[in-house]
Amino acid sequence: MTSTEKSTQPNQAHNALGDETLAVRAGFERSSLMEHAEPIFATSSFVFNSAAEAAARFSGDEEGLLYARFTNPTVQVFEKRLAAMEQGEACIAAASGMAAINLLFMGTMRAGDHIVCTRTMFGSSVNQIKNFLPRYGIEASWANSFDPAEWASLITDKTRYLYLETPTNPLTEVADIEAMAAVAKSAGVKLVVDNCFCTSALLKPLTLGADVVIHSATKYLDGQGRCVGGAVVGSAELIEELTSYMRSIGPCMSPFNAWVFLKGLETLSLRMQQHSRNAMVLAKWLESHLAVQKVHYPGLESHPQYDLAAKQMQAAGGILSFDLKGGKEAAWRTIDNTKLCSVTGNLGDSRTTITHNASTTHARISAQDRAASGVTPGLIRLSVGLETVEDIQRDLEQAMSAI
Ligand SMILES: *Cc1c(COP(=O)(O)O)cnc(C)c1O
Repeated sequence: MTSTEKSTQPNQAHNALGDETLAVRAGFERSSLMEHAEPIFATSSFVFNSAAEAAARFSGDEEGLLYARFTNPTVQVFEKRLAAMEQGEACIAAASGMAAINLLFMGTMRAGDHIVCTRTMFGSSVNQIKNFLPRYGIEASWANSFDPAEWASLITDKTRYLYLETPTNPLTEVADIEAMAAVAKSAGVKLVVDNCFCTSALLKPLTLGADVVIHSATKYLDGQGRCVGGAVVGSAELIEELTSYMRSIGPCMSPFNAWVFLKGLETLSLRMQQHSRNAMVLAKWLESHLAVQKVHYPGLESHPQYDLAAKQMQAAGGILSFDLKGGKEAAWRTIDNTKLCSVTGNLGDSRTTITHNASTTHARISAQDRAASGVTPGLIRLSVGLETVEDIQRDLEQAMSAI
């Protein structure tokens, strides 16, 4: 490759470029119009110069654009950019995070296959694995911790994937990705990490030995709570397999959403650093508050995996939770008294969101399972936004002063 080619194709040389450079430039090649920023290709199909060219494109003999269910230029820029940022070979975008997870599972597994995962995952991921995959003969075993020995003991000769999220929601337990990758490798199975909470800005699972990264782009990649989307990042071989599945199944990302996510990726690193800084200030303050029993945040020295988080993550992230001594009543009153924070189950937004997990995101699991998972009645989760941190603190302070 000549140096001129290199400068117009940053994705080709992504190992040499810094994260922030990739975030604003990777994956984009200008058209002959020489546009500076990425255009939205709002077209469902593409036109061929001849019947022979159409035949060659459809048969796969000739590379090129065909139909937006599996090839759209705006979506492709997003895919290339996210792959570069995660240091993966390739990426496929999907209509939502759940669609991305489903694409991986249904696009690669067969009846009889098995996965190992944890109960501490995003609720819809648990539901998909627990209530829908068994219809197609795909079963799961559930680990109670991130103890590599426990995961190793759950692997069978049918196991295809170890699947996890780190830090967990809402208790921020941190998985040791290198240790889990070693377990996966020695058993000949693949490690999948849902990197929604950290994003590539704080954690690159593939560089630590994971095989596949899942994203809900709806959260921090968008960052402003506007669009729903998801992605799978992994080897070129895996993404080719998933693209073939996508072609027949169809949960694709819209070009408009891909364009919104591209705007999000450009500022991802800056935002994740600031989310983390704000969360750190609030975590420290909450830890010293008299009404608070416990704060869960990987950036606090009191966190059980503080050292691991410091080693593995660029910063501790924007999600924290805290347990109020006054239980559910105190938690509900605090939430009701806030004036600035948004009362919603969503996270990864520029606006701070506040959630009572026991009665919302974790309401559908049994009281016993909830107690075992540590989601106590007094627990509140904060997805710390980008507001002036003193304003968030003042809002919580006045809300908690009345409990
Ligand atoms: C939200 C979320 C998902 C699902 O993503 P959607 O885009 O809402 O479908 C998956 N994993 C995690 C960790 C999430 O927070």
